[in-house]
Amino acid sequence: MNVIVTGVAGFIGMHAAARLLERGDRVIGVDDLNPYPDPVLKQARLERLQGRGGFSFERTDMADASAMESLFDRTAPGLVLHLAARPGVRESLDHPQACVTANVTGFLQVLEGCRRHGVGHLVYASSSSVYGTNTRLPFEESQAADHPVSIYAATKRADELLAHAYSEAFRLPITGARLFTVYGPWGRSDMAVYRFTRAILENRPLDIYNEGQLVRDFTYVDDVVAALLELLDKPATPSHRFGRAHPDPAESDAPHRVFNVGGGQAVPLLEFVALLEQVLGRAARRRYLPMQSGDVHATQACCDRLHSWTGWQPQTTLEDGLRRFAEWFCDYHGVAR
Ligand code: NAD
Repeated sequence: MNVIVTGVAGFIGMHAAARLLERGDRVIGVDDLNPYPDPVLKQARLERLQGRGGFSFERTDMADASAMESLFDRTAPGLVLHLAARPGVRESLDHPQACVTANVTGFLQVLEGCRRHGVGHLVYASSSSVYGTNTRLPFEESQAADHPVSIYAATKRADELLAHAYSEAFRLPITGARLFTVYGPWGRSDMAVYRFTRAILENRPLDIYNEGQLVRDFTYVDDVVAALLELLDKPATPSHRFGRAHPDPAESDAPHRVFNVGGGQAVPLLEFVALLEQVLGRAARRRYLPMQSGDVHATQACCDRLHSWTGWQPQTTLEDGLRRFAEWFCDYHGVAR
């Protein structure tokens, strides 16, 4: 099976491509290798894939319609796993053009390629940020997701709506995965797990926003990749429960589905910092700061729908996952522990 993986030099894309290659798929990896957030890390991730049997790489900007058309024509993919995006809620408020171009225009080219080639199934990354100002935890897919607080979140919600329209109009099977704070080896340098680890090891203070009154649902990258592959292998179908008179936001009579993918536990940020101190065997210095614009206060995923659709359950405790992250971090940066 030819599988296009977009965002292949990214954190989740690299892990997903590696798993697909291990099971014998041919992976056409796509990435534009733009400098945000860390071009060196992107290159290092890509080097782990290059040279592996079944892997090829295309340096392409997804928002380039003719380049994407040519890519789909040349590679005739059976499946597409779309992970490329400009991530980062705060970054999106500073650079809305780059965010919307990559996340919406780029996704449109992927949808077009899938439509023209009758791709068997498209799985794309959405985000817990679509729940925006909702406060009822855990977040369930049946809740409305119409109050985003960042441009990034709005682009992810726009992607879900575009995906539904393509699925409805062209009967294209498409599944959206709402990912909740993914962490693990080769993780992004702009995310808290990475920044906090670096600060603790360099004895610099951690910037802790909203005075630490934040809660996150952390998901280990191997668990996320397992969920993405299980979803990829089960093309979306119309829901028989759906009724147009009282439409449930999580259901449709088009072959489009959306699932939460999260660890399922609401972890207060200060507990997370304490666990990281324990794993690293060092004390953190804390600098408390006000709430940042674009951030949400709390996230927690209800994954019952995903569990009943695929049987998936997260396998990795936060402590084990942080240990694996810390080992990788020290190894990659040559830090003695
Ligand atoms: P990442 O930044 O590590 O990877 C994204 C990759 O996409 C990068 O390598 C980047 O170069 C590439 N890219 C960006 N714009 C592109 C373009 N126009 N053309 C081609 N390639 C382009 O991010 P990640 O953490 O691996 O996230 C993967 C996906 O999951 C993203 O869609 C992200 O929004 C989503 N997501 C991630 C998290 C998380 O916690 N990491 C949470 C929710 C959702």
